[in-house]
Order: sequence, then C-alpha cells, then structure tokens
Amino acid sequence: MSLPILKIVIHCSATQNGKQLRNKTETAAQVIDHWHQQRGFQRQSWAYRTFNPYLQHIGYHYVIDTDGMVETGRKVGETGAHVKGHNQNSIGICLVGGISIDGKNFGRYTAKQWQALHRLLCELESQHPSAKICGHRDLSPDLNGDGTITPNEWLKDCPCFDVWAWLDSGEVINTDHLFND
Ligand SMILES: [Zn+2]
Repeated sequence: MSLPILKIVIHCSATQNGKQLRNKTETAAQVIDHWHQQRGFQRQSWAYRTFNPYLQHIGYHYVIDTDGMVETGRKVGETGAHVKGHNQNSIGICLVGGISIDGKNFGRYTAKQWQALHRLLCELESQHPSAKICGHRDLSPDLNGDGTITPNEWLKDCPCFDVWAWLDSGEVINTDHLFND
C-alpha cells in the first residue's frame, strides 16, 4: 500500500560540489546509508526486505551522483527521513554536492546531474500529478508567521539553489548553478 505523494523535496548531500560520492566499493546511496545509520535513521523491516535490502537506513528515495547516475533508496510510498514534519506523503531526492571549499558558489551541480534531475522530476510528476516540487529550505518553518519563508528563516540552505526559480525558467540546466570542471 502506498501513500499518495503530495511533495517532491530536493536536497543536497552537503559535500563538495562536483565531487563524486561513489567510491571503489560503495555507491553514493550506500555512502549516504552509512551517514544515516550514524544519525540513527532506520527503515522498517517490511520495507527494506522488499526494496533495496542493502540500504537499511537511507532517508532519501533517490540519490543523483555527479556523473548523473540515479539510484533509488527508500521505495516511493515508504515514509522517508529527509525533512522534519514532511516525511509522510513525500519523495526526497538528494543531489550530490552543494558545498564549495572556497566558501562561495554553493549549490553547483554538473550538467549530467541537472539532466538527470529534470528527467526524474518529469517522470515523478506524471506518476504523482498532485505532488508539488520544492527545495528542503522552502519547507522551513515560517517563524514570523507572515506566510512567506524568507532567507533568515531557512533552517539550512539545502539544496543551495532556488528550486522554483529553476522550474519557472523552463531550462534543464541551471546555468547559474552549473558545476564546471
Ligand atoms: Zn535537505
């Protein structure tokens, strides 16, 4: 049984922009699975037994590494662990990257990541027509109650770009947030 999906939430891994998370022995999703294990995240046994049994902790439903490889984590419809207060009825997508070592140029992703994210969102939108797409930071609590989430109210900057401005632009590749290697 699956829950209806109402939100698709975009995140970043808060690792170095353009740096592949996959290594010789583990995929990006497996690396994140270890981080989430350390944070105490745990999938329910009925869920991991039937879907990605080697990922028992990961909170996201999808991970997109810098080479554009899309991996699944939790099963769509399974409650995630990626955004406080909105984990039910949502899908969490994690873009690898977000941080830059010079402290500037946050949220830069490779062309392959933008293409993969765009394609994934098109698929998910057609499967879940009532879902609204947003960034993690757009779901921060509205502290002053004025109805808009302003930058000083962002719990953190994740995914370090304006998701709605990108979607409105109609562009696949977000040139302002493109990682050039
Ligand atoms: Zn996030």
